[in-house]
Amino acid sequence: SPSDGKIRATLFPGDGIGPEIAESVKQVFTAADVPIEWEEHFVGTEVDPRTQSFLTWESLESLRRNGIGLKGPMATPIGKGHRSLNLTLRKELNLFANVRPCYSIPGYKTRYDDVNLVTIRENTEGEYSGLEHQVVRGVVESLKVITRQASLRVAEYAFHYAKTHGRERVSAIHKANIMRKTDGLFLKCCREVAEKFPEITYEEVIIDNCCMMLVKNPALFDVLVMPNLYGDIISDLCAGLIGGLGITPSINIGEGGLALAEAVHGSAPDIAGKNLANPTALLLSGVTMLQHLNLTDKADRIHNAILKTIAEGKHRTADLGGKATTTDFTNAVCDNL
Ligand code: NAD
Repeated sequence: SPSDGKIRATLFPGDGIGPEIAESVKQVFTAADVPIEWEEHFVGTEVDPRTQSFLTWESLESLRRNGIGLKGPMATPIGKGHRSLNLTLRKELNLFANVRPCYSIPGYKTRYDDVNLVTIRENTEGEYSGLEHQVVRGVVESLKVITRQASLRVAEYAFHYAKTHGRERVSAIHKANIMRKTDGLFLKCCREVAEKFPEITYEEVIIDNCCMMLVKNPALFDVLVMPNLYGDIISDLCAGLIGGLGITPSINIGEGGLALAEAVHGSAPDIAGKNLANPTALLLSGVTMLQHLNLTDKADRIHNAILKTIAEGKHRTADLGGKATTTDFTNAVCDNL
């Protein structure tokens, strides 16, 4: 940390609306006196051979050194010969879990008003191992890889998260009745970890039933942990329950406590540079980052100011049915701190 006691964090403003919403986060964090000093890194204009992508080696080094970061949306340039930005980040930093807190925003009406759950997705293997081949013409295979090591790691994180965030229950989501070996091993690992956390209730829910329960009554769930593909789908389903990707934060967890928070929406090229973007998802991702750093008071204060601003309804951005600019909304959040 710098000598003034501040925590250094890496900031990737990203592309499109990224710099505008990153500016909003910087402004709100300053207004709330958050002891963070940002190290800003932009996506490069050409492929860095050391990362094989448009991400610079220096930006990855910054994140490795600081152990904590916040990332705006990045538009992966089209063309061959480079790795996607998100894949590079995930592989280089070994980001094994994607965590998405999903809660109803008071005053922003959706079909549900009592959602308060967290999805935790295994992010390195399963159906996303990239091992696909043709056996003979007309027959292809895709290998779903589940390992004990990665399953234990994500299960440990889920229970640790539940315990440290005052959550009471962890549900493992699976299809072990069909995928006996792969999902079977995933469940076995979850059970082993559950035994170490007797204070947390553990249950197993089959993915199809989970989907039905989520749309019927999302309040039935607390923390959900699952293999990669199920997590991909269920986490977007849950974002839909609370009003979409524009208000959903997320944080990616790597080995040794490293964490990279990010908004899950894209770079919104249609509204970039127009001061129209809603900074809520990136702001709330910043809040998850503060929670990860145990800066709970700051996290709560900013979180409440965001919720209050949306609930008041006077300064909502266009995507939430209002007329406010990014700057109006940001100023209102600062006023509500
Ligand atoms: P998008 O999320 O950028 O946009 C979809 C729609 O949602 C657009 O109409 C946009 O204006 C709106 N929108 C998104 N975020 C908003 C916000 N904060 N405030 C107000 N409106 C918002 O999805 P897309 O158009 O499919 O993708 C655009 C680019 O973003 C692509 O290059 C894609 O690769 C990239 N992308 C990056 C990430 C990431 O970095 N995690 C995720 C998704 C897409």
